[in-house]
Amino acid sequence: MEKLMSTEKTQTSNLHRIVIVGGGAGGLELATRLGNQLGKHQHAEIILVDAALTHIWKPLLHEVAAGTLNSYEDELNYFAHASQHHFEFFLGRLTDLDRASKKIVLGALKDEDGKEVAPERCIAYDTLVLAIGSTSNDFGTPGAKEHCIFLDSRPQADRFQREFLSLYLEAQARNLIEPHENTLNIAIIGAGATGVELAAELHHAANQFSKYGLNSIDPKDVKISLIEAAPRILPALSERVSEGAEKELQKIGVNVLKNCRVTHIDAHKVYCEGDIQIPATLKVWSAGIKAPDFLKNIGGLETNRINQLVVKPSLQTTLDDDIFAMGDCACYIPTGAERPVPPRAQVANQEAIFLAKALAHRLQNKPLGTFEFKDKGSLVSLSNQSTVGNILGNINVEGLFARMMYVSLYRFHQVALHGVFKTSLMIIKDLLSKGSSPQLKLH
Ligand SMILES: Cc1cc2nc3c(=O)[nH]c(=O)nc-3n(C[C@H](O)[C@H](O)[C@H](O)COP(=O)(O)OP(=O)(O)OC[C@H]3O[C@@H](n4cnc5c(N)ncnc54)[C@H](O)[C@@H]3O)c2cc1C
Repeated sequence: MEKLMSTEKTQTSNLHRIVIVGGGAGGLELATRLGNQLGKHQHAEIILVDAALTHIWKPLLHEVAAGTLNSYEDELNYFAHASQHHFEFFLGRLTDLDRASKKIVLGALKDEDGKEVAPERCIAYDTLVLAIGSTSNDFGTPGAKEHCIFLDSRPQADRFQREFLSLYLEAQARNLIEPHENTLNIAIIGAGATGVELAAELHHAANQFSKYGLNSIDPKDVKISLIEAAPRILPALSERVSEGAEKELQKIGVNVLKNCRVTHIDAHKVYCEGDIQIPATLKVWSAGIKAPDFLKNIGGLETNRINQLVVKPSLQTTLDDDIFAMGDCACYIPTGAERPVPPRAQVANQEAIFLAKALAHRLQNKPLGTFEFKDKGSLVSLSNQSTVGNILGNINVEGLFARMMYVSLYRFHQVALHGVFKTSLMIIKDLLSKGSSPQLKLH
């Protein structure tokens, strides 16, 4: 607590200080690697800053929202993890950057009741890595902010889960008084991987609710509409994968609307071009991302139109060699490529591996090297229904093999954080608890 209260974290040793802001898919893996490599042997001081106390791997958030994953079981506490991996953790939200004095500014920290826990603080750095991820981009669509839930963080996914459960509880209570039909309309805007996965997961959750006796809403009466502006769903994946996924969604009754551009949203409906109106009690926005707004030209650094920090092949920002950016908040366009590397967990993971080496080289005044993204493919989980995707260039995969590969992505993240032994224990624990705990979070 004493550390949180000090208004400035100045250098007390003459060790090179690497500050990583954002402990997500990329930043936490990097802090863990650097802590184990450099922090442990006192070759550098490693500090991780995050706005939350705990980490949950973002690609699991659609499962948290549907209630098919209990977020409290899969989260990691930063303080505990830092103490095991030789780095220091600071709880706080980055608000500004002073490049001249090489300090980051963390906003005042408040608890849930709005009481100030710590004042605004500064942390000095020698090397800074920004890894604060992205938020949903609603492209200024009227009504989106007010009426949609975004799946950018665990609190937002938890909020969706609570609202989803409440609708079932209300329907159950209504039916106890006088039986009548209940229909639940859900609209998901954006049929990228997140939207598609969420649609399938919600269908699965609806069946689970019914199994647990919350059957006032018949699973058939949960009407899920998946709305996409592009001519096909999963536009970033191959046509074959997109067709396969659409067929699976249609099989489970998801209403897939393509070439359907949302114009505005109100409390009851989603309105699209062509006078299409989709009734929806629950609405989720999952179309597109941007880096947080405050990042726009932060400290005079170069950013693109979606606020991402533009970086060189070494992942150094274009205007300051002491500041690196990685993951969703960075824009890296490989030489000769037309587009930046995509905002995906596998990019964040590969950048963490690259930076762990590059930053160690930097301490020894060796060249940093060039980041090369190797696209290992994309997999989309359609809950217990199926998994589809392509790997190694453009090999289409589906079924059990694809499912195993999909699950292994999270396990690789766990291995990067905890090592093989501890991850194996976690897998055993998960397998054992699968048979004894409910398949759906009902609280
Ligand atoms: C529902 C969903 C499903 C997805 N599924 C997949 C998938 O199947 N495969 C895939 O490859 N990708 C998937 N993605 C994308 C993937 O999650 C991201 O690309 C990846 O998490 C980016 O990693 P990151 O380290 O850049 O950011 P994040 O993992 O988002 O981490 C950012 C961290 O920064 C912290 N932070 C944010 N702002 C501040 C601040 N101002 N100060 C301090 N800390 C801050 C946050 O608390 C967070 O811990 C999915 C995303 C979502 C939302």
